[in-house]
Amino acid sequence: MKLLIPGPVTTRPEVRAALVHDFAPWDLDFHPLYAGVRARLLPIAGVGPETHACLPIQGSGHFVIEAALRTFVPREGKVLVPMTGSYAVRLTRLARECGREVLHVPMGERERVDPRAVAAALAADPAISHLAFVYSETSSGIVHDADALVGVARAHHRRVIIDAVSAFGALPLDLSAMPEVDAALFTANKCLEGIPGIAVAISPRERLVGRVGEAQSWCLDLADVHAHAERNGSGSFRFTPPAQVLNALSVALDLFAAEGGRERRLERYRANLKVFADGVRAVGLSPYLPRQLQGPIVFNVHAPDDPRWNLQSFVDRVKERGFVISNFFDTVTPSFRVGLIGALGPEDFREAVGAMDGALRELGIRNRKAA
Ligand SMILES: *Cc1c(COP(=O)(O)O)cnc(C)c1O
Repeated sequence: MKLLIPGPVTTRPEVRAALVHDFAPWDLDFHPLYAGVRARLLPIAGVGPETHACLPIQGSGHFVIEAALRTFVPREGKVLVPMTGSYAVRLTRLARECGREVLHVPMGERERVDPRAVAAALAADPAISHLAFVYSETSSGIVHDADALVGVARAHHRRVIIDAVSAFGALPLDLSAMPEVDAALFTANKCLEGIPGIAVAISPRERLVGRVGEAQSWCLDLADVHAHAERNGSGSFRFTPPAQVLNALSVALDLFAAEGGRERRLERYRANLKVFADGVRAVGLSPYLPRQLQGPIVFNVHAPDDPRWNLQSFVDRVKERGFVISNFFDTVTPSFRVGLIGALGPEDFREAVGAMDGALRELGIRNRKAA
């Protein structure tokens, strides 16, 4: 079964095979494995261990987003969030539930964040300590201009937190040119094509010093993750590590390097996008986004305007043909959602379009166009 969802993604058999080994966390064989994973993630963000720390914690993406908010946003600080879609809503909830005030930059679902609107919001409220934004908005599929947004924060002397969960490993991110970024956040199971269970922050080392305890949560304290590594070595995990998941991530990083790194991975995802976008148009379906807004991570297709359309029935029939897509939509008007990422190539997406075409026929859908 191939997962056409934006995480967890389809993984290669070598990655899944790495789960069969048992580890004792303190075993000296595990230490270099874990230290190696941490070291190899930094250059994907354009940085090295002199300036930045790689801070993994157990859990999914939400856990590390909360950890970054707790660790870096002062309790009396305020977070500005551009309302890009449902992951901006999640970011807002995470911040509010740990007691941080959130302000929004309102915007439409089908537009890129306007850096001028962010600049105006920052200028209007000096109490905003952080700009926090979603780089690749997994609901709409739009990739926002991270360089421009970080540039606005720089001009206004504010700090930045980037939810790069569905971007990291494919879309460019050069933290060496972004000293105001307190944390770039991602997980093992999206563009890195690993197994779920580990989430990661990359943060400037100097920002972690003297911060232990600020998070008011031992589990979600990134400064404590850093302090522990400084004390016990980079291969030591604070609590029981998800060792099998880290071993799988290590294999996924081998495969990432063998593919040629981030640029090649992005090329493959762009090739997936091209085949899929051309394919859905060719079978009479309507893409949700105009071409110039469509990113290479997530693709939404308008639900056909036909009384026989039923998302779950469609999902079931596509699944019978070997592909799993989301059985919910995350857009204002009905759609279905396809992830372009994971260990899949253009040929898989050609087949996926065929599977969708077959499913629509079986459902008796006559009008495939959007309402
Ligand atoms: C997947 C994702 C997350 C994290 O989701 P989890 O289910 O907690 O892993 C956060 N932000 C974005 C943009 C995502 O795509």
